[in-house]
Amino acid sequence: MKNIDHLLENNRRWSEQIRAQNPSFFADLSGQQSPKYLWIGCSDSRVSANTIVGLDPGEIFVHRNVANLVLHTDMNCLSVIQFALEVLNVEHIIVCGHYGCGGVRAAMEPRRHGLIDNWLRQIQDTANLHSAILDGIQNEGEKFDRLCELNVIEQVLNVCETTIVMDAWNRGQELTVHGWIYDLKDGLVRDRGISVDRELRMHELRDRFLPTSKRSARFKAL
Ligand SMILES: [Zn+2]
Repeated sequence: MKNIDHLLENNRRWSEQIRAQNPSFFADLSGQQSPKYLWIGCSDSRVSANTIVGLDPGEIFVHRNVANLVLHTDMNCLSVIQFALEVLNVEHIIVCGHYGCGGVRAAMEPRRHGLIDNWLRQIQDTANLHSAILDGIQNEGEKFDRLCELNVIEQVLNVCETTIVMDAWNRGQELTVHGWIYDLKDGLVRDRGISVDRELRMHELRDRFLPTSKRSARFKAL
C-alpha cells in the first residue's frame, strides 16, 4: 500500500508555522467561523478558493463542484447557500468559473463521457440559449472561453433565482452575488461586472444577456 505520509508531514509543518505567527489562531477559530464570503467554484485542483484570493481558514465558506454549477434541484448546493446566508450571514456570494474548464469542454464535445453528462447537461442548455453569440465565433478557443463566461453568468442568475437569495433580499439582508472568471494562464481573476445586489438588478442582468428572441417567452412565464 502506498502511503501519503508526506501530506501529514506538510500538515504538521503548516500547523506549526501558523501557531508560530499567532499562538491563538486555532483556538480562536475553533470557537466559531464568521466568513463574509461564500465561494461557489469548480472542483478543478488548480482553482483553490483560499489560495487565489489570499484568505486564511475561517474567512471564506466554500462549495465546489464540476464546472461551478448551481442547479435548483441540487440539495447539496442549496443547503450550502442557505447555511451561508441564514447562519453565517455572508455578505457576498462569488461564483467563480475558469477558462479552460474541463467540465465546460466536455459539455461542448459530441461524445459521451458517462454519468457526468447528466450533470453537465445545463451547460449545453446554456450553449443552446446563447447559440446566436456562440455560432458567431469561428475560433474554437474563443468560443470555449465565451461559453465559460456565459456559464458563470447563468450560474450567478441561478443563485439569484433561488428562494433562499430572494427571501434574503426580501427581508432586507445585505447580499451581493458576483460573477468572476479565473485565468489559469496568469493566475488572475476577471470580475465580469455582473454583480447583483437586489432583485431588480437580477432582472436587468437577465435582460442584458438573454437573447432577444427568447426574452419574451422567458418573462411571460414569470
Ligand atoms: Zn472547471
